[in-house]
Amino acid sequence: MPSLPTVPSAQSAPLDVLGVPGEINLDYAASAPCARAAADAVAELLPWYASVHRGAGALSRRCTLAYEQARQTIGDFFGARADDHVIFTRNTTDALNLLARAVPAGTTVVTFAGEHHANLLPWPRGSVRLPVPSDPAGAVRDLAAALTELRRGSSPALPVLVAVTGASNVTGERWPVAELARVAHRHGARIVLDAAQLAPHAPVDLLTLDVDYLAVSGHKLYAPFGAGVLIGRADWLDAAPPYLAGGGATSHVGPATHDVTWATGPARHEGGTPNLLGAVALAAVCKALDEADQGALAAHEQALLARLRGGLAALPHVVELRTFDPDAPRVGIVSFVVAGWDSTEVATRLAAEHHIGVRDGLFCAHPLARRLLSEAAGRTGRRDLPPTALRASIGLGSTAAEVDRLLAALAELG
Ligand code: PMP
Repeated sequence: MPSLPTVPSAQSAPLDVLGVPGEINLDYAASAPCARAAADAVAELLPWYASVHRGAGALSRRCTLAYEQARQTIGDFFGARADDHVIFTRNTTDALNLLARAVPAGTTVVTFAGEHHANLLPWPRGSVRLPVPSDPAGAVRDLAAALTELRRGSSPALPVLVAVTGASNVTGERWPVAELARVAHRHGARIVLDAAQLAPHAPVDLLTLDVDYLAVSGHKLYAPFGAGVLIGRADWLDAAPPYLAGGGATSHVGPATHDVTWATGPARHEGGTPNLLGAVALAAVCKALDEADQGALAAHEQALLARLRGGLAALPHVVELRTFDPDAPRVGIVSFVVAGWDSTEVATRLAAEHHIGVRDGLFCAHPLARRLLSEAAGRTGRRDLPPTALRASIGLGSTAAEVDRLLAALAELG
């Protein structure tokens, strides 16, 4: 196995991540680099690679054990309750689609228009989409009003599910999850947290936040692609049709077409041979993060974020996108536009001339991104802002030198 390089410039960062020397990844929000802990866990297991839950051999038994231990570690990391299911999925999109198929018939799902498409599009017809609020308190007020209205108009027996993000993938702004959960529960609703962007930046604990379900992507959490989880209340999940019908999802199959008894527990929704290496890699990252000094991780990211935002604010031709007050709590994500410049052109130049990777576009959150772009034009009075944006995002492998390289490159465009 060739030795995998740590990015030399990232040696001062609090998490050891892999990378290619000379290439700067400021696109953690899309996919974070792989943590060395994840790569090591995969390398250790590779010689043992064999089927999970399907074989009697020693290799197979070790892989089955590793898979189930990964489930336990990840569940513990996210504060799963004793009776929650921890279901492996491909990513957050997959997890939210699974839940969308598992909600009981007649469920109304309530979301905000500021969500990522993964938390807007899977929900059934009749879902309620609340406008983007102008501050976190407004989100709580709007949700309370909507749930009151909904309860007035519908049978209290019909379930309601609130679906919210922990942190916006466009602005990095954090949402008041615990307060939203309190409001949801006060109205007899359940709540699912899209933690795709929050989990890589802050501890996310189901119990503390008191959310019913949580969805996460491994590839944004320093693990490789292809492993995510849905964690949450067992009753809806055990009563729902299997998300993936097939081997492993059944406890009995008879000769007649419909003679099948589906498994309960996570297996019901994990049909087919599972992604063992993804699960083990994700668990290794959870363990590494759990053992790290949380204060130091947060301080590192917040210092870099302040440097990035401060540097951008000092560039007169750069305009930041935001929903809330500039001082609202955020994770390490900033979207912005460069006046007079097409965003794709800027991203292409950053890559070609400076070896810096950022994202451009509308970030799979079209309603929010379009609204923020038009607000930015209104706020600044500038008529030369482009119709799409740029996004720089940092994480535990990022360094001040990388942020400074971006700022210097953007300064040249003024
Ligand atoms: N929710 C949010 C807030 C996201 O940022 C993303 C990914 N950009 C997703 C959901 C979907 O994640 P994935 O593509 O890993 O399914």
